[in-house]
Amino acid sequence: MHEVDMTKCLVLSMQEWRQQHDPVTPQVQTVHLQVGTFTCVEPDQLVTTWRAAVRGSWLDGAELAIETVPLVGRCVLCNGTYSPDPQQAYRSPCCNQPMEEIVSGRELRIRSVDYRLPEPASPSATTAPQAPLATAAAV
Ligand SMILES: [Zn+2]
Repeated sequence: MHEVDMTKCLVLSMQEWRQQHDPVTPQVQTVHLQVGTFTCVEPDQLVTTWRAAVRGSWLDGAELAIETVPLVGRCVLCNGTYSPDPQQAYRSPCCNQPMEEIVSGRELRIRSVDYRLPEPASPSATTAPQAPLATAAAV
């Protein structure tokens, strides 16, 4: 279950992201994902797994918006980019070279997050830029 592992990674990334807002828990509406076609992740299955994983957690109700990124290879001979075809063993159609460089198609990343904070953060002294610390004079 590839998607289950992917979902675990996503939830972990979101927990790290949440810490930026500590101690407030953001209310996440949509997580925008970029998923490369070469990651072998089924977007529909990922959504299903995600919904099950976040149910009852602070991410409950957050939806995934998945943008698929096509697989693009670069030909080692002529440096051109092409759409590798599994039927051609991913070889470049221009020079019939094996796929050695992948330009895109392997990404699984969070592009952006739509969220609301439960209450507007009140300005406080801790967010104000701090004066540089005076350096101690040489002894
Ligand atoms: Zn080529």
